[in-house]
Amino acid sequence: MTMHGGSLAIRGRLLSFDADPREEGAVRYVEDGLVVIEKGLIREVGEAPALLKRLRPDLRIADHRPHLVLPGFIDPHLHMPQTQVVASYGAELMEWLAKYTFPEESRYGDPAVGASASRFLIDELLASGTTTAGVFCTSHPESVDAFFTEAAERGLRMVAGKVMMDRNGPPALLDTPETGYEQSRDLIRRWHGKGRLAYAITPRFAPTSSELQLEAAEALAGEFPDMHIQTHLSENEGEIAFVREAFPWSKDYTEVYERYGLVRDMALFGHCIHLSERERAALAGGRATAVFCPTSNLFLGSGLFDREAMRAGGIKVGLATDIGGGTSYSMLRTAAEAYKVLALRSQKLPALDAFHMMTAGNAEAMGLDNRIGRIVPGYEADLVVLDSAATSAMRRRMERVETLEEELFALMMLGDERATVATYVLGAPAYERGPLRRGLPARQDRAPPEWAPGAGESAQ
Ligand SMILES: [Zn+2]
Repeated sequence: MTMHGGSLAIRGRLLSFDADPREEGAVRYVEDGLVVIEKGLIREVGEAPALLKRLRPDLRIADHRPHLVLPGFIDPHLHMPQTQVVASYGAELMEWLAKYTFPEESRYGDPAVGASASRFLIDELLASGTTTAGVFCTSHPESVDAFFTEAAERGLRMVAGKVMMDRNGPPALLDTPETGYEQSRDLIRRWHGKGRLAYAITPRFAPTSSELQLEAAEALAGEFPDMHIQTHLSENEGEIAFVREAFPWSKDYTEVYERYGLVRDMALFGHCIHLSERERAALAGGRATAVFCPTSNLFLGSGLFDREAMRAGGIKVGLATDIGGGTSYSMLRTAAEAYKVLALRSQKLPALDAFHMMTAGNAEAMGLDNRIGRIVPGYEADLVVLDSAATSAMRRRMERVETLEEELFALMMLGDERATVATYVLGAPAYERGPLRRGLPARQDRAPPEWAPGAGESAQ
């Protein structure tokens, strides 16, 4: 895969975060801003009128005024093989897995199934403005090959892995401690570090791995100390009881992962809802990340994430869709549900905080904050253009909005993929809103789009 991206400039209202917005000066907002992109990387950022005066006159400009331009959204936890499980009725976690998810995932040994699901998923993510994700495939190596092949063709920065699970699932899904290890190793050799792709060691969760398999995951983690690890932790009461029985030596759920060296930097734990003080201290001590998946937690009735406790404990927090326990591909909708979950805990989620989480915050949660998640020179030019007045309801609400924060809050509460005007990957258009809402073909096969020539004219 090549890293050659587009060279152009994008004009609009730029919003990016240098740090947590509670910190002084962390929010960068330019009302009439320009992002100059060269070979897929951000070269310059600033006020459009000043920059335009000294740029080459033949530089293509995508004029997106009056829309917002943000770093592409980052979704640190979702499941590629669950696009046809989303919205399956009436079960809590363990029953939902057995009744809907495991039978569905059993189909993914067929490379054609994985290829078509990966294409669909990536189209859907780009339509929602999401340019990077932490992705669980199935236990079949074919599913990882399918996903990474599609991600590489689109030039996307993606983190994904083969699920390791050797017990408590249907035979078609189970690997063994040996095959789980070997298949993971082969996939790492084949994909890790290729272009923008990164592998994640992916034991599904403690209930579906034997102690021998967790030892195999520990061996992989030892061999690849900088590699991502992704799994699930403390989502649901039934699951926690299951873990208590399966690992009677462990004082709690988190200790199972600690025992096998999996609580560390670059380890992402989905859910983390019912943690004790001790478990939170273990996550903080290991510099691991807790991933909040609000639509999933509400849909499966799992519980309410305690963000204040995480913050007080010094734990990195990510915000994710968790498709297919989650019910929306849109990070805007995910943030809206996060707001409501936290409201039930009497906690607040200000709009700037939420937009930071979806971009720079999630980049940091995934250990990718030196490359993506911000609009600053040297960073990869993955960008989303958002229309705060995308629907009649939003347009009407915007008539009463007076500040940027009010606008962002209404955008996150009322918005979804309909608010995506365009998505850029390495500076090249990867999605454009239009009557046919679908992804664009891979960059190399695509004729250059017709750009609005410059000032005064909107690209829309
Ligand atoms: Zn999940």
